Amino acid sequence: MINEEKGGILIVSGPSGCGKSTLLKEVYKNVDNYYFSISTTTRNIRKNESHGVDYFYISKKEFKEDIKNGHFLEWAKVHDNYYGTSLKPIMKALKKGKLVIFDIDVQGHEIVRKKLNHLVSSVFITTPTLTQLESRLKNRNTDTNEVINGRLENAQYEIKYFQKYDYIIINDDFKLASSTLLNIAQIARNKSTLYDKEDMLNKWSK
Ligand code: ADP
Ligand code: 5GP
Repeated sequence: MINEEKGGILIVSGPSGCGKSTLLKEVYKNVDNYYFSISTTTRNIRKNESHGVDYFYISKKEFKEDIKNGHFLEWAKVHDNYYGTSLKPIMKALKKGKLVIFDIDVQGHEIVRKKLNHLVSSVFITTPTLTQLESRLKNRNTDTNEVINGRLENAQYEIKYFQKYDYIIINDDFKLASSTLLNIAQIARNKSTLYDKEDMLNKWSK
């Protein structure tokens, strides 16, 4: 019997404000043996966030040093700030058989696909419309009008990528969207290419 849990990756992307982090918090309550990849960013910390929980917040100078030193699995510039995924903790979590969850943008998704495609399942999350995204960003009350306009502009660029993803969730009804995301996180464990072919065939030789 193969019962050892294999490390896998679940990438969640979608316009800022569509509900990714709120949905993920629901999923964490019900999914076992996962590791949330805490990104590093140069953007300002929001009032409900903390360093080392939501992100590691560093300066642009420090970020550029980290790029030079090869610390990132992937990084991207999003709305004038840098965001990146550190390589070391990801590799450690994968070795332990964890489901590693990334909340990264469409550029990051493309890079991780190129590097670790056999491990990746991915889901694009969005609001039903741009107008609904705007009202969520306004209600969230964490950004200035100028920042909100930048996020809306970026959303129109990101939506073009939705078919690069395995799954899509239109986050309208929160309960339905969170149970769908939980199902996807669970099924990500059954991706056939997480399993080693040679190992499998050895178990089938006479
Ligand atoms: P993201 O992580 O994608 O930037 P957030 O999780 O911060 O987005 O959600 C943005 C705002 O939308 C938050 O105020 C959140 O409470 C709200 N929200 C999330 N999902 C829904 C939903 N299905 N209906 C209405 N509001 C929602
Ligand atoms: P926010 O500022 O709203 O937290 O995030 C802005 C955007 O950056 C979101 O689309 C989010 O998915 C993306 N993002 C967060 N962390 C990373 C990362 O490590 N790499 C990449 N490529 N994008 C990220």
